[in-house]
Amino acid sequence: MTWVALSTQNLEHWSERGWFYTMEVAILLHMNGGRGKKSYAENSSLQKHGLEVVKPITEEAVRTMLSADFTDSFGIVDLGCSSGPNTFFALSTIIRAVCVRYQENSRPMPEFRVYLNDLPGNDFNSIFRALPSFYELMRENDGVPGSCFVAGVPISFYARIFPANSLHFVHSSYSFNWRSKVPSGLYDEDGKPLNKGNIYITEASPPKVARSYLQQFQKDFSSFLRFRSQEVVRGGCMVLIFFGRSSTQEADEEFFFLWRVLSQALGNLVSKGLVEEEELDSFHFPFYNPSVQEVEEEVKREGSFTIERFEQLPIAPWGANKNGKDLALILRAVVEPLVKYHFGEDLMDMLFEEYAQLLQFEINEGRKKLIHFVLVLNSK
Ligand code: SAH
Repeated sequence: MTWVALSTQNLEHWSERGWFYTMEVAILLHMNGGRGKKSYAENSSLQKHGLEVVKPITEEAVRTMLSADFTDSFGIVDLGCSSGPNTFFALSTIIRAVCVRYQENSRPMPEFRVYLNDLPGNDFNSIFRALPSFYELMRENDGVPGSCFVAGVPISFYARIFPANSLHFVHSSYSFNWRSKVPSGLYDEDGKPLNKGNIYITEASPPKVARSYLQQFQKDFSSFLRFRSQEVVRGGCMVLIFFGRSSTQEADEEFFFLWRVLSQALGNLVSKGLVEEEELDSFHFPFYNPSVQEVEEEVKREGSFTIERFEQLPIAPWGANKNGKDLALILRAVVEPLVKYHFGEDLMDMLFEEYAQLLQFEINEGRKKLIHFVLVLNSK
């Protein structure tokens, strides 16, 4: 059942600070909450820009799915909604597109069931506090009065979380890169770390490291598709936006440079004697950015969905001012809770200052763009 993530066994691991590979991602992962300077809400422009670029694809996906069946009760979920304004941008895009389609077909507007999903550690309060403005916006612009019922669903999406056939449209942006757990297989038979000095796959990582990450991705994606196939109505649609790789190499420079530089920043703290080498070696980032083939293979293998559209959008990770500090803040809002849990709060300002300097160097060197994947799936 869905409460597995909070079993006693997992809570026992909770106290083992420093032993990240036993850590329960579902308990600890969240973005920086609130509305402060370091919050996700204030530092999610990179993801917001991605959502703006993807907007026409999302609208088109709604258009295509709504051609014959017009339900009275339309179920939408944003999986991994986090605590910033982006979820409302995505939801209003979808709701508006649905309303347009109903109008074009002279159908009475449906009631919208809107679910905001994230892990239990997410700052749902910030999101709930912003709901009145969202209702207001929908009412003013779209005349959807009283027909939008919003609920929070705090649980991992790698489990069954909705009743059968209750969802029509599933949206998820920049959430699906997170693994449900740190992959097993990152240690040799003697318990020594295979990926020393690095928090993620690098060119220097032994093949077993990349294989372990890939296997974890395959397991997670397969469960994700299986559970969603039970929840989504036949003909329902999923739009998944996540970071991917344009190459088949696991250690490509695209997304990976962000984590390579974070490893470097942590390595600098080791050199200064502020972090133990073993502490760095036992920190493994529960993340994966798959290749096109890896995604397609898993969709085919699982078999419940067809690929309606699959796009790769290369987008620069920095804004117009190309500032290392701003990029470090964006990444800090995402990774700080996990990094803080492992290395301790006292080091955080120093670590992210170091990170900002190293990122600035990469920016000056003219580093690559991040590859945003947009996967549109239809339920068979
Ligand atoms: N969708 C938002 C937020 C992306 S940040 C946007 O586009 O801006 C990624 C979010 O995914 C985080 O809030 C994180 O807690 C959530 N997340 C990661 N793994 C998850 C899981 N297994 N179940 C539910 N949420 C998850």
